[in-house]
Amino acid sequence: MIIAIDGPTASGKGTLAKRVAAHYGFHLLDTGLLYRAVAQTMRDAGQSLHNENAATLVAQKLDFEALDERRLRTREIGDAASVISVYPGVRQALFEGQRLFAQKQPGAVLDGRDIGTVICPEAEAKLFVTATPEIRAHRRWLELVKQDPALSEESVLEDIRRRDERDSNRSHAPLKIADDARLLDTSGMDIETASREALRLIEASLSRKG
Ligand code: C5P
Repeated sequence: MIIAIDGPTASGKGTLAKRVAAHYGFHLLDTGLLYRAVAQTMRDAGQSLHNENAATLVAQKLDFEALDERRLRTREIGDAASVISVYPGVRQALFEGQRLFAQKQPGAVLDGRDIGTVICPEAEAKLFVTATPEIRAHRRWLELVKQDPALSEESVLEDIRRRDERDSNRSHAPLKIADDARLLDTSGMDIETASREALRLIEASLSRKG
């Protein structure tokens, strides 16, 4: 059983994916971490993010089991990830590993940008989680300001707009809602309400298919 959860940055999809995976007892893969890890490895090696061949080689060697989430979840690495994620070679290199993960039993939840459209078009349930850019920026700012008290909400909003633009307009596997995905706009919702709604939509998809 595969559950695909896609959406733009800071939409809440990561938190929802964790809750959904815990609810069903499924394996969870946050695919954003894969792109972040490629960007981080390149940074560590002093390589330019604009070197597509180097990024592809890093992606080919990436160990999915060795992702240091704490180190990868910074603002800079998120932005760098959106640069290398436009390369078809990188996406191709990460494709097989994601497909294999999706086959784990008793089931898998994958969250990202292209899970329902490219990686697992056959997923039994697909959610596309979104919220307005202003609300997403506010949520992200609340997380980041703890580490960086000087950070302005305005600059986080700019980052989010830039990332949305890059993720939505790339030619390969752009961020877009799958035809058979259910849309969950979390703009007016707290996390508890959004979680309940996510489970309700997933259950509705599963009962339709089953
Ligand atoms: O979701 P997260 O913010 O961790 O993703 C970082 C970046 O990785 C995104 O902005 C996007 O460019 C890229 N990404 C992607 N496809 C995915 C997951 C993430 O292109 N499935």
